[in-house]
Amino acid sequence: DRIARKRDREFSEFRKRIKDADQFKVEASVFDDATYGALYKLVQDGHIDAFGGPISTGKEANVYTALSGDEEVAVKVYRINASDFKDMRGYLDGDPRFEGIGSDKKKVVTAWVRKESSNLKRARRAGVRTPEPIAVERNVLVMEYLGTEEGRAKRLNEVHIENPETAYEVVKEYVRRLYDAGLVHGDLSEYNVVFHEGQLYIIDLGQAVTIHHPNADEFLERDCRNVANFFARQGVDATPDELLAYVKEY
Ligand code: ATP
Ligand code: MN
Repeated sequence: DRIARKRDREFSEFRKRIKDADQFKVEASVFDDATYGALYKLVQDGHIDAFGGPISTGKEANVYTALSGDEEVAVKVYRINASDFKDMRGYLDGDPRFEGIGSDKKKVVTAWVRKESSNLKRARRAGVRTPEPIAVERNVLVMEYLGTEEGRAKRLNEVHIENPETAYEVVKEYVRRLYDAGLVHGDLSEYNVVFHEGQLYIIDLGQAVTIHHPNADEFLERDCRNVANFFARQGVDATPDELLAYVKEY
């Protein structure tokens, strides 16, 4: 009982500390209890030592930097009450890895974050550069930070691409390797590919589905369309059909 009170006190001090770390808070959207709890656990487990600033504030998730020892890490925090959560179900349904999840929002988000982490691992095993997942806790994913002290790695849409032919070849190979490993990204475009240490990395694999998902082909066709059309605008001789054929050829 005394121990429980001590824990409560520590927890509320922790919560205050995060709120005071002014860079970590985003406008009015202070984290809910479950999120504070998840962050607290990640600190206690030694995955996070200090909180940094936001890198991105999106519809469903915010991404922050944090320190883990003297390494910078990226912390992606999903908002449990975000409006688009219905859409997540569509990506989880039909994925044998996440059968019987139900419709409880918290469970759906937790499954989503675990899926993102396992997709990142699977992609890396398949030879696709993605951030290394470090830890998962409820609605929070800690992963390798891509970027420098100056700031996060730039997306393809934010840089001048020196050699678009080569960049296209790399992304093309990534899409094929993902597919060979049984995954379709599902939201692939110039917004989810970044330049880091002279290499291209694919990010944002939360919505990626296995090739057995009922919409896998549709998602793959859309990915190929986004990628090929982007590189065609950079002057590369790329078409969605040619990319799709390359990915599916065995
Ligand atoms: P949204 O709800 O805005 O659509 P999202 O699902 O697109 O969010 P991500 O694409 O994973 O989320 O991350 C948003 C942005 O945060 C990315 O475009 C990228 O700039 C940055 N980012 C994400 N992960 C990392 C990382 N590991 N290292 C550095 N920057 C990152
Ligand atoms: Mn994204």
